[in-house]
Amino acid sequence: MVQVAGKSGNSSIVLHRAAELWHVTSPAGSSGTIRRGRLGDRFRFEAISDVGLAVDESTGRIIEASAFSVAKAHHPGARVIDHGDGVIVPGFIDGHLHFPQLDVMGSHGKHLIQWLDTFIFPAEARFSDRSVAESTAARFTKELAANGVTMSVAFSSVHPVAADVLFDAFEKSGLRAVVGKTSMDVNAPASVLLECSADIEAQEMLIKKWHGRQGRLFYAVTPRFVLTSSPTQMKALADLHRRHPDTFIQTHISECEGEMESVAAAFPNARDYLSIYEDYGLINDRTLLGHGIWLTDSERERVAGWGATVVHCPTSNAFLGSGLLDLKKTCDAGIEVALGSDIGAGTSLSPWATMLEAYKVQALRSQPLEPEALLYLATLAGAEALHMDAEIGSLEAGKYADFQVISFSKKPLLAERVACTRSAAERLFATVVHGDDRLLKKLYVGGQCRVDVEHGN
Ligand SMILES: [Zn+2]
Repeated sequence: MVQVAGKSGNSSIVLHRAAELWHVTSPAGSSGTIRRGRLGDRFRFEAISDVGLAVDESTGRIIEASAFSVAKAHHPGARVIDHGDGVIVPGFIDGHLHFPQLDVMGSHGKHLIQWLDTFIFPAEARFSDRSVAESTAARFTKELAANGVTMSVAFSSVHPVAADVLFDAFEKSGLRAVVGKTSMDVNAPASVLLECSADIEAQEMLIKKWHGRQGRLFYAVTPRFVLTSSPTQMKALADLHRRHPDTFIQTHISECEGEMESVAAAFPNARDYLSIYEDYGLINDRTLLGHGIWLTDSERERVAGWGATVVHCPTSNAFLGSGLLDLKKTCDAGIEVALGSDIGAGTSLSPWATMLEAYKVQALRSQPLEPEALLYLATLAGAEALHMDAEIGSLEAGKYADFQVISFSKKPLLAERVACTRSAAERLFATVVHGDDRLLKKLYVGGQCRVDVEHGN
């Protein structure tokens, strides 16, 4: 479909030419719908060959995505950047990952609770040290950019300094991000706990300093999960969000069976896991719930009713042996779903790898996902979860020009595979199977080039 939002010879317009463009858009009339339908009904796939993506560099927004000849005729004075055999894809959105776990990916052999105690809490304790946070944040944001991720929804550690440093790194990187200082005040070593009043005071400062900065950086109130926050802290976090209702809430729910047993034992009077968050007022349409594998039918119905999102983290779920999310049941219940790497339990920062694992998990449930659905989950679905789908998530006119240019040339096996394909969807799926950070040539956020592999930055 040709989309045009103004025609001119304006010199701030740049025309990105590439061999093909893939993205998914919202079906007409669906924007703003809280209760969503089947996964296959949530998006429309579009591929454009010999594409021209017109971007206004003065606003960072897309003017038009159409055949190059058409776009060129509309913008005869535009500067052309020819990406050759490249494919233009929207910037990925990673809906759930843990900044202080970057260097403990691949910690072997435990289920969730033991994995937290053995590997994660000691690793996160190091983030009270500003220098550890700074060096890790620089590498974390660089890795995200190298993997084509333009928006991340990240947990930091419990320490205020680490979240501040991470925001600073995201600001310097030019990427978009939602960041939350994790809150824990019980059931973990003292080095990863923060007493409630100090915790809230620190978050007030982080929100004041960073939330909404440059229209790119946002804050999320972040209880780790129900077992590591006291009732006092849970209530204080809900109050904090009420004072700042345009912040987000991120947490975990129903990830594995051992956790379910611990939660049932700790909250014997709770109706179910979700009701604990509901009772504190932490569930609404700005809440992102990691995992949700073991939600009951009643919980799924209520999550959908709240308009909250389940963030599916398939590499993490497979790695920790947590379970296989029933994505069909989750979507059919009307729940918003996004995709997350969940590193360090997740095994890759590449959304291509996360998409492939999502495919495998549903294949194990005899519900193989279409390649277009995988692209939706890694892009537009995340934008919808964040209520940012009018701004990012696809390459439609009016949205920010957040996109990557990928090439198959660094992966000869993929290049050969693509040469045998007959449709864009086949090429997309081959890319999901073979894709990694070697594909990225360039990354743009708001029309600005943030990664240029060929020119060494
Ligand atoms: Zn997580």
